[in-house]
Amino acid sequence: MIKYRLACGNCNQTFDSWFASSKEYEKLKKKNFLTCHICNSQEVEKTLMAPKLIHGKNKQKNHLDIEKINDIKKTIKGYQKFIKNNFEYVGKNFAYEARTIHYDKKKNTKGIYGTASEKDIQELNEEGIETQLVPWFQDNDN
Ligand SMILES: [Zn+2]
Repeated sequence: MIKYRLACGNCNQTFDSWFASSKEYEKLKKKNFLTCHICNSQEVEKTLMAPKLIHGKNKQKNHLDIEKINDIKKTIKGYQKFIKNNFEYVGKNFAYEARTIHYDKKKNTKGIYGTASEKDIQELNEEGIETQLVPWFQDNDN
């Protein structure tokens, strides 16, 4: 007896089937005797790789992705905390405030943070005003 994992091309489900031999599988396949256990489609194929492994890997990958995202979020939240403590929030006046600081060359000015459009950022860069883009999560975002 040989166990194959079959995959359905119609409903994308996989299921295990037992065959007397690989030849029997081929025979049944040729005669279209193989049908999907879920939707009865005849588009079933023997899968080449062990789907359990693939499935497991995918699961792990998703898990890692979530961990990664949480890590990144944590890092960003850390930045946010730092920025909030050390920079002055200027909201949408960011471009204006950035220019004021740059052209007035104010000394001991706290750094500022706020929101700016891509165009603002580009114009500031062209004027030699350095800005840094920080990904930002709203406070109500977990
Ligand atoms: Zn199916």
